[in-house]
Amino acid sequence: MRCHVCGGPLERTVTDLPFKLGAHRTVIVRDLPALVCGQCGEHVLEDEVMARVEALLDGLGDGAELEVIRYAA
Ligand SMILES: [Zn+2]
Repeated sequence: MRCHVCGGPLERTVTDLPFKLGAHRTVIVRDLPALVCGQCGEHVLEDEVMARVEALLDGLGDGAELEVIRYAA
């Protein structure tokens, strides 16, 4: 798998990424398994990780403008 921005090599990493839910709500997901580009630093999420994140975000409902959750249970 290569970076979709620059074609560079992707490496596995664990990171924290923010997801915007609407105009005034951001959820930061911690300990997210991701791929990071060694050349440009772009983060890429695999389909199964993205699906799990979407399920987590769907389950949150309305809340604070800024919320931090963990990817791992
Ligand atoms: Zn790249």
